Amino acid sequence: MLFDFDGPICRLFPRGSSRPLAEELRRLVAAFGLEDALTGAERTGKDPHLVLRAVHQAAARADVRRGFEDVDFGQLVGALEAAVTEGELTAVRVAWPTPNADEFIGRLAERGLCLAVVTNNSPHAAGCYLRERGLEGHFKAIHGRTADPGLMKPHPDVVRRALESLGLPPQDAVMIGDTPTDLEAATEAGVGFIGYGRNEAKRKLLRDAGAKVVLGAYAPLIEGMG
Ligand SMILES: [Mg+2]
Repeated sequence: MLFDFDGPICRLFPRGSSRPLAEELRRLVAAFGLEDALTGAERTGKDPHLVLRAVHQAAARADVRRGFEDVDFGQLVGALEAAVTEGELTAVRVAWPTPNADEFIGRLAERGLCLAVVTNNSPHAAGCYLRERGLEGHFKAIHGRTADPGLMKPHPDVVRRALESLGLPPQDAVMIGDTPTDLEAATEAGVGFIGYGRNEAKRKLLRDAGAKVVLGAYAPLIEGMG
């Protein structure tokens, strides 16, 4: 079973607490003179990954690069990635555990299921959280964001890396995730999907994206495990 980290295992930035990190990234982008490359939610939103992804995508576009010939995009993307990792490492110390996730993970491991993390967060941050909670031993592998933000989910790269490291064919795995991008990555990799949504709005997003199974809590599953 492949677990997305933020959502299914913990709430990494509860109550909009990712905003200061998103602002920090926007300051970095501005320091490179590139604030005009950001639009809409990238400019005002609270999700640091949106800013990271936007700059990475801008860097890949020749028309954008023509307007910013003096900008070292590689250096900027590297600096943004490092700042996101730093922010996530700080956030895991105060992240909110997803209700019953620790027990659910423990029970799955007890039954001999092979568990791995497939996250867009830093694998170091996910590892740090799991270690702190005594859960690290239950996971065979922790896969996360690489230096290439273009490989973040919905790209299936992280799911494929996890399958490879576990030596599993896609049909023997199932992924649990909390966003339509998780569903997209799982589907693209040929892996079954279970949605986890902590509220009705999130569950509806998953169902609307095509998720067939969507959970709102782990407790009924734990009960069902006897
Ligand atoms: Mg998530």
